[in-house]
Amino acid sequence: MRFFTSFFYGIHPSKCYGYIVNIDPLLPPGKCALNCPYCPLPIREVVGKGYGVRVNIDHFKSVLERHGDVLAEVKRIRIWGFGDPFLVENLGELLMVLREYMRSHGIDGSLILHSSGLALHRTVETNTAELIDEVGVAFPWCIGEYPLHGFGGLINLLQSFPEKDKLIIEVLAYRRNSEIYPDPLMLQELSSCIKKTGVNRIRVKTLSRPPFNEELKPVSRRVLNDIVRRLEEDGFDVSMCNMDLPPLRSIKISGLLEVIYNHILRLPLSTRDILQVYGENGLIAVKNIVDKQKAVTRVWENTLFYRGIL
Ligand code: SF4
Repeated sequence: MRFFTSFFYGIHPSKCYGYIVNIDPLLPPGKCALNCPYCPLPIREVVGKGYGVRVNIDHFKSVLERHGDVLAEVKRIRIWGFGDPFLVENLGELLMVLREYMRSHGIDGSLILHSSGLALHRTVETNTAELIDEVGVAFPWCIGEYPLHGFGGLINLLQSFPEKDKLIIEVLAYRRNSEIYPDPLMLQELSSCIKKTGVNRIRVKTLSRPPFNEELKPVSRRVLNDIVRRLEEDGFDVSMCNMDLPPLRSIKISGLLEVIYNHILRLPLSTRDILQVYGENGLIAVKNIVDKQKAVTRVWENTLFYRGIL
């Protein structure tokens, strides 16, 4: 059996959003203007903000039709996957197709994009801000080990985004050995950098599955609480990603094996995640994928995870 990569990669149990449908218009290989150490994907190609890929809209429409039942049931849709979706040249057309699909099928849901922030100018050029409900921007550290090429440009892009209340800055805290990112000094710098963007909403989270660099580990709830408190003291509207979800009631998914393969290709899933979202059949499917050598198992933070391989 051949395993194909698809735009659709299942339903994700997100600690920030709850259950969310995943759509990746970029497909492998990973392409992003950043290469965040905590990214779940191997972003081998760090691309400039002028880079672009085109999506075949007919193919995209056929994927929506195939997985329409899932979209209608879960309603919340996240556009993310192998990199920054704002690198899609015809993103405006794609979003219009998706909105029209939702409208014509009575899906009253939300459209969320994850972005590096560095290609946000495309939204202005293509007038697509009105089609999006939220853009989560992975915010780099202002000091420390993180490369900050184009950081001034990122601040300008965030400042000039036409519908600023749709932006939310994501601060991902993690631990490497005994070092915590962000430490108090970094957090202070980070806060003043975010202030310059004019964005008021911040989401604080930590790792809940292995990033590509598996040395990185989650921070404790106490550290997250401290970060939230300090950012709130600086006047931001801060939320923490800490949702604990009940098992998803059974949703019929067409091509379960392919969907789970595509899911773990982007985001590693634990046994618990798979049971929660896809049930017992999901577990049988993922073991089958491992047997076919299209996924590997990893133990991270004392938990078994499945990660897909190309
Ligand atoms: S911005 Fe997002 S997709 Fe890009 S490297 Fe960072 S986490 Fe990964």
